[in-house]
Amino acid sequence: MAQTSPKLRLFVDTPLSEGMEVALGRDQAHWLNTVMRAKAGEEVAVFNGRDGEWRAEIAALTKSGGSLHPAEQLRPQRPEPDLWLLFAPLKKDATDFVVEKATELGVSALGPVFTRHTVAQRVNSERLAANAREAAEQCERLSIPRLLPPESLEKLLADWDPTRRLLYMDETGGGAPIAEVASGLDGQSLAVLVGPEGGFAKSELDALRDLPFATAVGLGPRILRADTAALAALACLQAWCGDWRDRPAFR
Ligand code: SAH
Repeated sequence: MAQTSPKLRLFVDTPLSEGMEVALGRDQAHWLNTVMRAKAGEEVAVFNGRDGEWRAEIAALTKSGGSLHPAEQLRPQRPEPDLWLLFAPLKKDATDFVVEKATELGVSALGPVFTRHTVAQRVNSERLAANAREAAEQCERLSIPRLLPPESLEKLLADWDPTRRLLYMDETGGGAPIAEVASGLDGQSLAVLVGPEGGFAKSELDALRDLPFATAVGLGPRILRADTAALAALACLQAWCGDWRDRPAFR
C-alpha cells in the first residue's frame, strides 16, 4: 500500500463504515490523549472484530472523550482458526502473561477453568478482557478473543459440545506427541486444556481419558510450567494446522 498505515491501533465495539462517527470510550480517549499525546486530525487504525481494519481520523479528542471518522478500509475481515485456550488460573502476573501471549498466538477464545489443584480461587474477568484487548491492538489482530465464563472442569466437560476436539496436555506421559496429534487433525474446532502448576488430579485425568471428544497430548520429556505448556501447545497447533501455515497479509 502506498500510504503508510497509522501506528496507533484501537479496538472499538461499534460498526465501522465510511462516513460514520465512532464515539471513543473514556479509557481510550485518555490513552490517546494523555498517554500517546495524539491530537484531533491525526489518524489511527481501528477494528471491531467484524468489519476489518479501518484508517480513521481523530475528529475530536479530550481527556475523557472524543470521536473518530473511519475513512478507508485497510484490511478486510478474514476467518480465523477456531482455537480455544482453557487454562487453570495462575498467579496474577502469570495469568496476565498467558492471556497476552495466547492472544498474540491467535486464540479465538480464552476460558479460565478451575481444577482440583488450582490455587487461584477466582479470576478478574475485566482484567483478562483488558489484557486481551491490548494485546490484540498491539499485534495487529483483527479480532479480540472471546472470554468464556470461568467454569469448574467438571461442569465444562458435562456441557461440552462434542464437535470441538479437546486436546488436554497430559504431563504424566499418557498422551501422544503433539506433532502426531496435530497431523491427524482435519480442520475441526479445537480447545487446548492446560492444568495448573500442581498438575491435573489423577481422577481428572481418568475422567478426561474416557471422553470420546478428548485427546491426551504430550509436550516432550520435560515438565513445563503451566504458562510455558499453554504457549508451546498453541504455537505447535498454529504451525501444523492453524494460520501459521498462511503467508501473512500485513497492511
Ligand atoms: N506439578 C506437576 C506439573 C504440572 S505442569 C508435576 O510435577 O507433575 C502444569 C501443566 O502443564 C500440566 O497440568 C499439563 O497440562 C502441562 N504440561 C507440563 N508439562 C507437560 C508435558 N511435558 N506434556 C504435556 N503437558 C504438560
